[in-house]
Amino acid sequence: MSQAVTVPGNSDSHSAPNAGPTRLPYPSTVVKGKILWVYAIPFIIMHLAALLIFVPYFFSWTGVALFLFGINFFGQLGIPICYHRQLTHKSFRTPKWVERCFVINALCCAQDTPAKWVAWHRIHHNHSDHQEDPHSPFVNFFWSHIGWLLVENRGTHDIAAYHRYARDILSDPFYLFLEKHRWVWATIYLAHALLFFWGGFGIGYAWGGMETAWQMAWSCTIWGIVARTVYVWHITWAVNSLTHLFGYRNYCTDEGSRNNWFVAVITGGEGWHNNHHFDQASCTVQHRWWEFDLNYYFIKVMEKLGLATNIIPPKHLRWAGRKVTTVNEGGTPLEEIDAPKQPSAAEESETVEAV
Ligand SMILES: [Zn+2]
Ligand SMILES: [Zn+2]
Repeated sequence: MSQAVTVPGNSDSHSAPNAGPTRLPYPSTVVKGKILWVYAIPFIIMHLAALLIFVPYFFSWTGVALFLFGINFFGQLGIPICYHRQLTHKSFRTPKWVERCFVINALCCAQDTPAKWVAWHRIHHNHSDHQEDPHSPFVNFFWSHIGWLLVENRGTHDIAAYHRYARDILSDPFYLFLEKHRWVWATIYLAHALLFFWGGFGIGYAWGGMETAWQMAWSCTIWGIVARTVYVWHITWAVNSLTHLFGYRNYCTDEGSRNNWFVAVITGGEGWHNNHHFDQASCTVQHRWWEFDLNYYFIKVMEKLGLATNIIPPKHLRWAGRKVTTVNEGGTPLEEIDAPKQPSAAEESETVEAV
C-alpha cells in the first residue's frame, strides 16, 4: 500500500524517498525474439517519413498549424483525457456521444483500441515497477519507451487479459466492435489522413494552382498526420519511461513514479505521475499550486458547458466528504471531528478493483 508523506497544499511537505527496484527482468510472459511486426513496421515507416519535415518542399505554415492543432485536438483529447482519465480511471463522465467522439480522436493517434490501451495501463498500475509491469524502465529505458510494444507479450496481448482488465470497456458494443474488427480503427486513421491530404490539395489549388496543390497536400500530411502522430507517440511513451526515472516524489508509493515538469508541460499535466500513482482515481493531478494540470482545467470547462459530470475530486477531499457524511448521520458537531483516517488498501487501489 502507498503511504503519503505529504498533504496537498502542505508547506511542510518534503520530497519522498526513492522507490522501485534498481533492475528488473523482462515480464515473465514476454516471448523474447518474437517481434510484433504489425507494430514494428508502421513505427519504422512513420519515423522515417517524419524526417521529411526537414525537407523544405514539405514545409508550410498551414502544415505547422495542423501539427499544433492535431497535438491538442487528437492527442490531448484522445489519449490523456479520454483513454487515460475517462476510460481507464473513470475520473469523470461525459455523454456517450462525447466519449465516442473522443475515442475516434484517440484512434487518429494510432495508439490501438480503447480496450487494449485501458487494459495495458491498468496492468501497469497493478504491477507498477514489478516484473509483470508491461513497460517498467527498470528493465531498461528503451524497453519502457517503445521496446515493450515491439515484442510479443502473452500478458498484454491476450484476450483473457482484456476481459479481466477492460471488461467495462468491452461491454460497450462500439468498443467491442473495434476489438473484433481491427481493420476499422486502421481505416479511421487512414480516412483522417486522406482528409488532410485532399484538404491540403484543395487549399493549395485555390491558392496557387496545381503545383501548389500537390505541395500543400504533402505538407499537410507530413506535418499534420505523420509528424504529429510520431510526436504524440513519444510524449505518451515519455510518461511510461521518463516519469518512472527522473523527477521528484511527493509520495512514498511502492514503485518509482515521479513528478517530471518537462513531461507535464508536453502532455498537459500527465507528467505529475507520482501524484497520479498516489491518487489514481482523482481527475486532477495538481497537488501543489504550481503543478499545473491543463487537462484537468479543460475537463472543468467541459463541466461548465454541461459535457462533463461526476468529476472525481482528490483523495483528501473524498475523505473529507466521507467524514462529513458520517458526522451528519451521527449528529456530531463538526468541531469534534478528527482528521480523516488513512485509506485502506482497498481504497488505494480502488480504480483497478472497480473494473
Ligand atoms: Zn506509471
Ligand atoms: Zn493511470
